[in-house]
Amino acid sequence: MKKSLIAIFCLGILFTSCKNENEKESLSESETELTTEVEQKTKAENPSIVIDPISHATAVIKWGDLFIYTDPVGGAKVFEGKESPAILLITDIHGDHMDAKTLQALNLGNSKIIVPQAVKEQLPKEMSSRLTVMNNGDTQKFMGFSIKAIPMYNLPEAKDAMHTKGRGNGYVIEKDGERLYISGDTEDIPEMRDLKNIDIALVCMNLPYTMTVEDAADGVIAFAPKKVYPYHYRGKDGLADVAKFKELVNKGNKEIEVIQLDWYPEMK
Ligand code: ZN
Repeated sequence: MKKSLIAIFCLGILFTSCKNENEKESLSESETELTTEVEQKTKAENPSIVIDPISHATAVIKWGDLFIYTDPVGGAKVFEGKESPAILLITDIHGDHMDAKTLQALNLGNSKIIVPQAVKEQLPKEMSSRLTVMNNGDTQKFMGFSIKAIPMYNLPEAKDAMHTKGRGNGYVIEKDGERLYISGDTEDIPEMRDLKNIDIALVCMNLPYTMTVEDAADGVIAFAPKKVYPYHYRGKDGLADVAKFKELVNKGNKEIEVIQLDWYPEMK
């Protein structure tokens, strides 16, 4: 019985391989396509950096086995079930970026908490010893990460601007050759346009606080990250037109992948 089954199977193979050459060729082509697809899918399913949008400017970033929190606000409840961060970054003093109550409620045992000087001055004194101050241009190395503080500010520069140059930090984080940029609240500044080799960028766009989608797209095209996630896009008059942002970016450079996540789950 077994033998006859094998014989039928072999005959089947023989029959299939007798099909004409053209068909064979197209088969191998589709096989190649399939392999590439599987490779891409595997990479997409196991990327080294995964962005978990919490809300507006707040994100949990999984990088390998470690976690980075950026601008954690909104209370500890929104971080329930999330791993504690190895690194916690705060960009600026405003309530959508810095919240002492959230920081005090989170389990930050061994986390390195990186803040600009202006943020340290506004957080409760009892937290001071836990904070690592970084200002524009500073670099810190921690657990295999290299973190650089990048300026973030409004244009034209003015003393009474909502974001004055030197107070807040954007950040570029690098590990194993991969580079992530977090813009903080900024306009289309030269320091952003000059960034090199960015794999993933989180870029703000909201009026009247930061920049228009047009300016954000322009800046992004200038430094051409591999992937850009629009974030921090709730403005005074609702959400910015992130679909327009994507359209503009891809009109200028179709290689840049614009990834739209749900940063405002509470608005549903
Ligand atoms: Zn903000």
